[in-house]
Amino acid sequence: MIQLKSIREIELMAEGGKILAATVQMLRGEVRTGMSTQDLDAIAEKFIRGHAGATPAFKGLYGFPGTLCTSINQEIVHGIPSRKRVLKDGDIISIDVGVGYRGYFTDSATTVAVGEVDEETVRLLDTTERALAAGIAAAVPGNHLGDIGAAVQRVVEAAGFSVVRDLVGHGIGVAFHEEPQVPNYGKPKRGLKLVPGLTLAIEPMVNVGGPQTRTLADKWTIVTVDGSRSAHFEHTVAITQSGNRVLTAA
Ligand code: MG
Ligand code: MG
Repeated sequence: MIQLKSIREIELMAEGGKILAATVQMLRGEVRTGMSTQDLDAIAEKFIRGHAGATPAFKGLYGFPGTLCTSINQEIVHGIPSRKRVLKDGDIISIDVGVGYRGYFTDSATTVAVGEVDEETVRLLDTTERALAAGIAAAVPGNHLGDIGAAVQRVVEAAGFSVVRDLVGHGIGVAFHEEPQVPNYGKPKRGLKLVPGLTLAIEPMVNVGGPQTRTLADKWTIVTVDGSRSAHFEHTVAITQSGNRVLTAA
């Protein structure tokens, strides 16, 4: 069932989203060579809990142990923070984080270069961020879910990269994962019609190589089958009468 949100509910989500946006911006500035993903997780948890009423939404969600999902290089999503995973110059790290605030959830992700990265990696990050922007631009009333996916896919494939299909965006709000699913591929004018009050996590996951994924033995970390690098950017977006509102924008 799709739960449309009232203006009051969207306001509450925007308040939580503001805390989440600050968290993501702070974490982007903290990433450096030699730190572990556990270090980053501890910083994130402390920062979120420092805001009255805010909680790290991932902690305990489906049994996940961290505040962040930290996914390095060929890891697409759901990497578990660990003292043993230390960032090296030339790596990329995808940081996915959710916040609970006064009964509502927001979700955001970013990918950060650690030190100097190669040209192709720079292009991967830029393309994924532009794909998210294109998806958000298509998330307006009267359009359909397929318009969002098609917009994301067009940007990614024009750059010669591939969109992950095994994982999708989602509705969000009262529950962390709500209906509908929001694929990062599709055809214009297909699928659910977008209406004001719909709140969506739009989250392209983009691979340098093929779109195929597999899950590691830890049962969480999802990686590219071909070992190519992957990036992930995400915002929580509310469809409004006049267009949309990005609830997790910095
Ligand atoms: Mg997320
Ligand atoms: Mg999400």
